[in-house]
Amino acid sequence: MTSLMNPEVPILQDGALVLFSGGQDSTTSLAWTLERCDRVETIGFDYGQRHLVELDCRPTVLEAMTALNSDWRARLGEDHMVDLRSLGQVSNTSLTQDVAFQMGEAGLPNTFVPGRNLIFLAFAAAVAYRRGLKHIVTGVCETDYSGYPDCRDDTIKAMQVALNLGMERRFVLHTPLMWIDKARTWELAQHLGGDAFTELVRTQTHSCYLGDRSVLHDWGYGCGSCPACELRRDGYARWQALA
Ligand code: ZN
Repeated sequence: MTSLMNPEVPILQDGALVLFSGGQDSTTSLAWTLERCDRVETIGFDYGQRHLVELDCRPTVLEAMTALNSDWRARLGEDHMVDLRSLGQVSNTSLTQDVAFQMGEAGLPNTFVPGRNLIFLAFAAAVAYRRGLKHIVTGVCETDYSGYPDCRDDTIKAMQVALNLGMERRFVLHTPLMWIDKARTWELAQHLGGDAFTELVRTQTHSCYLGDRSVLHDWGYGCGSCPACELRRDGYARWQALA
């Protein structure tokens, strides 16, 4: 399972910090990083989410991942939780306020928290600066997503330039899921950690905007009808059809 000796897999030297929410995408991105880097730390943000289920899943997922693979356990270091509740206070979205989902202006759902990924990346870079970590990994994707402009490749590339200029560092931002759809994200999980890891992703991670963990579907827990559940469910179905 280890790929560090595989010449086809580039080794990330000087450490990595993974933006880790406890969801499917960031969990898969964390496994991707653990296969490539021998010093990995994680960072999560409490931005006043209405449902804290995802944050509650974080320690469980981290523990399950280290139990699954001894290489991953040896490489995984500190987890940093950052309090960003002021972000929830200044934004009026259905993720942080008690309002129903709907499509807003410019075709964006009201789950969009303006600037969220820019702020996350700035805080991640500040932690990476302090911890001496060169690589910053985020599970954002512009192939199969809700249209959030701060998930786009150009946004991340611009952010890398801004952070390196503003902090006088040479951070490298990685987005392993940027160009793959949700079916291939499941496939990547399978490739990285086999059946045991995809089962971990299916049963331990959380994506549902409503925080629903009452029913375990074949694609995992969730309400089945919010935008995050729809992406996860449809991707799982397409992956199963391919397998
Ligand atoms: Zn849902």
